[in-house]
Amino acid sequence: MSAAARPLILAYHAVSSTWDSPLAVTEEALEQQAAYLRRRGYRGLTMAEAERLRTDGELPARTVVFTFDDGYRSTLRAAGILERHGYPGTVFAVTAFPASGAHLSWPGIEHELTDATAEQLEPLSWDDLAGLRDRGWEVGSHTVTHALLTAADDAALAAELGDSRQAIAHRLGACATIAYPYGVGDARVAAAARAAGYLAGCTLTGAHLDDEPHRRPRVGMTSADTGTRLRAKVSPVGVALRRSGAARSVRRLRRQRDWIPAAGSAE
Ligand SMILES: [Zn+2]
Repeated sequence: MSAAARPLILAYHAVSSTWDSPLAVTEEALEQQAAYLRRRGYRGLTMAEAERLRTDGELPARTVVFTFDDGYRSTLRAAGILERHGYPGTVFAVTAFPASGAHLSWPGIEHELTDATAEQLEPLSWDDLAGLRDRGWEVGSHTVTHALLTAADDAALAAELGDSRQAIAHRLGACATIAYPYGVGDARVAAAARAAGYLAGCTLTGAHLDDEPHRRPRVGMTSADTGTRLRAKVSPVGVALRRSGAARSVRRLRRQRDWIPAAGSAE
């Protein structure tokens, strides 16, 4: 146990070997990533568990948090894979979708929805989310509509944070953490998340202070992260290097990934 220990927080979206999209990792890649971390002795926690142990100074030296944004039905495949390695997961759901059953769609990913990919964009239902909770998963918020929060006015920001938290808490009993859509949360968003009652908030990467619960950085994982590349990426040195260049990498990420809108484009 160490007061300075940090969890390794991994960020995923969909899990599919039949969807060629930056949003999907293959089952094989996730399997290899989980197996590698288990061999290395990493203990698996949910986001809220990791945050609570960190606050108490009782986080084990090697902990991993597997997080899945958006709430694709394929998250259920991830649960099966992670379970074989004794790991729970944390899914961040966009709460407008579980009840409506509409295909997941928002600015930046609309082009992903075609006849061939419709199945990949089906959302988890509330029953699916309850099932994950019953398997030891945490269900957190990814807002109501997948809004770019840095571009939302104060009232819209409070509604996206508060209404989604309330919906999940009402359906599933609790909602302690949030992942900001597009991985983007500035100081105003972090303060609003704290005010809305969240214990912690996740970015994708980002410029962060050393200990900022409402802007926890994550490592975005892809199917290419296996073997040597995986070892380098999740090593403490690799994670620290990315943290030090965090602001730079957000800009680079925005250029590389057209599904992350530039700040202000959602106004
Ligand atoms: Zn998202």
